[in-house]
Amino acid sequence: MKIPLVVGNWKMHGTQADCFDRARMIAKDLDETPASVEVAVAPPFTALAPVKQAIGNSKVQLAAQNCHWQQNGAFTGEVSPTMLRDIGCDFVILGHSERRHIFHESDVFVAKKMNAALESGLRIILCVGETLQERRKRQTLRIISRQLRIALKGAIKDGIDKIEIAYEPVWAIGTGHNATPEQISQVHAGIRLFLVKSFGEEIGSQVRILYGGSVNPDNAPELAKTANVSGLLVGGASLKPETFLPIVRSFTEN
Ligand code: PEP
Repeated sequence: MKIPLVVGNWKMHGTQADCFDRARMIAKDLDETPASVEVAVAPPFTALAPVKQAIGNSKVQLAAQNCHWQQNGAFTGEVSPTMLRDIGCDFVILGHSERRHIFHESDVFVAKKMNAALESGLRIILCVGETLQERRKRQTLRIISRQLRIALKGAIKDGIDKIEIAYEPVWAIGTGHNATPEQISQVHAGIRLFLVKSFGEEIGSQVRILYGGSVNPDNAPELAKTANVSGLLVGGASLKPETFLPIVRSFTEN
């Protein structure tokens, strides 16, 4: 089984200097006291280069928050997977609910981006999750299966080991209301079943399934020991090393 993965999604927060300092503090702390987890941070595009410099040769990895589905071309304002590799990114987050809901990215868009990102050698954190209305209508697993089926369509067997799934219920993101361990383990079990059915037991059981949605230092220890949780995707609480680092360490201290 792979070690857990904890990712900080910094969204549209921070100047180059803010992000450099935040990344340097996280990297320094993890170098001094290593944690047996993989850690990645996802700054805004404008801070990818300074954050790459700040993390240097530390164990902290670099993630982007989005990419285009072509490697270059006439797409004003977009950034390609090749460009993200060039700047030193290890991962890209795709299908985040803010991209799906605010910027109307469809499952098909996400699938195209998945293929381009895999082609360029990026690892992917694929976000899936239901809205509150969908949960109330008991459509959670149906919605997530659709998101997975379309996004993973082009994920050749060799590509699936480069993909992490993040279950992020839309109603839990940035709201202060995290999903309960029961809700999370139920959905993660459904995602695991989907992966095993689609890619076979050996491959499907290896894919990490992260939880994201209002994770903080207080709820992280319980989430980290929840069945089927192999990592966390953290938004607001990743903006300060003093709240992000205890979340990272919640896996080590379990
Ligand atoms: C996110 O946006 O991926 C996220 C999980 O945000 P927050 O932790 O702030 O809910």
